[in-house]
Amino acid sequence: MVFPADTKITKFIQYTSHCKGHDVHDTERQKDGKMRHPADSITWKDVDQKWPDFASETRNLRLALSSDGFNPFHGNRTDYSRWPVLLSIYNLPPWLCMKRRYIMLCLLISGPTEPGNDIDVFLQPLIEDLQELWHGKQMYDTYKKESFMLRGILLWTISDYPALGNLSGNVIKGYNACTICIDETKATRLVNYRKMVIMRHRRWLPRNHPYRRQKSAFDNTVEKGVAPVPLTGEEKNICEALVGTLLNIPGKTKDREYVRLDMAEMGIRTELRPKTPGKKEKSELVETLCQLEKHFPPSFFDVMIHLSVHLVREVKLCGPIFLHWMYPFERYLKAFKGYVRNPAHPEGCIAEAYVAEEAVECLVNFEKSTVGVSQNAKYEQNARPLSGATLTKPSDEDLHLAHLCFLQNTTNIRPYFE
Ligand SMILES: [Zn+2]
Repeated sequence: MVFPADTKITKFIQYTSHCKGHDVHDTERQKDGKMRHPADSITWKDVDQKWPDFASETRNLRLALSSDGFNPFHGNRTDYSRWPVLLSIYNLPPWLCMKRRYIMLCLLISGPTEPGNDIDVFLQPLIEDLQELWHGKQMYDTYKKESFMLRGILLWTISDYPALGNLSGNVIKGYNACTICIDETKATRLVNYRKMVIMRHRRWLPRNHPYRRQKSAFDNTVEKGVAPVPLTGEEKNICEALVGTLLNIPGKTKDREYVRLDMAEMGIRTELRPKTPGKKEKSELVETLCQLEKHFPPSFFDVMIHLSVHLVREVKLCGPIFLHWMYPFERYLKAFKGYVRNPAHPEGCIAEAYVAEEAVECLVNFEKSTVGVSQNAKYEQNARPLSGATLTKPSDEDLHLAHLCFLQNTTNIRPYFE
């Protein structure tokens, strides 16, 4: 079931145009070098550097895609799975990016089984919409009262680890289970437990760290290995990458900030290390993992424990964790579950309820823009809801104003004002 992405985006532009526009990530953000928004991340800056014409229009959309399965039948039919595909937009202030109102449902992949690796076939209509958006779409900005060409880019996908395997086509099991370390994962198979575990986190410690020489506390070896350098981007054409780096061709060069970070982590060319925070957090994290290795049985170290070693890198690449984790989407799935009233037609129920909710949102926005309720409250966050029992009586002047406002906005009365 496809919910066209371009109509969603048009609606989003309408929503945000009533507030302070949809470039608040640029106009309202404090630019003091602290990590507050994905706009402070390396990926965002990389996009700006690679496509300067895209970056010059701050209203252009930066999107994230998320997908996960859920069972609409509250566990009664455990093998049943629906996969909504959701888009979230980072043009908003951090406290609004992950609000349900601004997360858009673009696809609802039907059950009864999960799509697995065939998910790319289901994603085709969405990919076409996104490609169209990349080339530009004429929009009207009611906040700035002008027409402009809107473009959009998909920055990253947000999913759990099994879904990451489906979306990216990477191997997520076995000896190369880590999608960042790949063949440097160094997984071990526990023969009796019949499971793969990933240990050897001492590789991420500095070369002279005492833990590297402690044999008996770990696996009876001195650790001489170095942390693997993750592959960045499409490095299929090695020659192009090499020439690009040597000539420093914009867009071709692999000598970006994150590569320098990885080199510094390996201990090579440390003088090129960019001045970004996070080194202390990373070393604390690795040390904690090594201490866990000392005290916990090997069966504890599945791939999920190993992935925490890449957390700091993730934050540098994508910004604050709360803007690219699964929780908001998981909560949204719970809402979808609530939409199912008729178990015979779960997709129909979800689609109907979703469209109805969207229509109500649209009406509320229309009311606000015509009747003129202040929009600033939701940005300044100093508005508080009234408790159920609080009754307030407006002053006579307020009542008179409200009455006049109502009359001015009522179609039948409008001719009398003109
Ligand atoms: Zn890894």
